[in-house]
Amino acid sequence: MTCMDARIDPSAAFNIPLGAAHVIRNAGASARDAFRSLVISQQLLGTTEVLVVKHTGCGMLIFDNEAARDIVKKNKGEAAAKEVEDLDFLTFSELEERVKEDVDWLRSKAVEEGVKVSGWVYEVETGKVRKVVD
Ligand SMILES: [Zn+2]
Repeated sequence: MTCMDARIDPSAAFNIPLGAAHVIRNAGASARDAFRSLVISQQLLGTTEVLVVKHTGCGMLIFDNEAARDIVKKNKGEAAAKEVEDLDFLTFSELEERVKEDVDWLRSKAVEEGVKVSGWVYEVETGKVRKVVD
C-alpha cells in the first residue's frame, strides 16, 4: 500500500514481478483509506502481508483539512465546499510517526490477525526504501 504520488515505482523499489502483489494506492498511503481494498485483497484473494509505504516529499505533509477545504471552496464554490466539509483528508505532519500509526492501526484490527504488516519510507530522491517498522 503506498501513496498515489507519480514519483513512486513500487515494483522497482521492492523488486516485485508483475502479478506478484496487489498495489493499493491513495493520497498519503492511508491505511484507513485503503482498508476496504486490503480486506478484499486478504479475505477474498488470499494475500498475507501488507507493506505500508509512505514517502518523503508527500503532499499530505504540507496542508491540513482546513486548507484543503479552502482550496475546494476557492476553486469550485460553495456547493463543492459543502460536499467536502466533513471529509477528513487524512493529512499528517510527521512522516515516520504516521507510518508507525498506520501499522499499529492495521495490527489492531481483528480482520488483520495473522497478516504480516511492516512500515516503510520511500525516498523519492533516490528511489530507495527503508524499513521503519518491522
Ligand atoms: Zn504522497
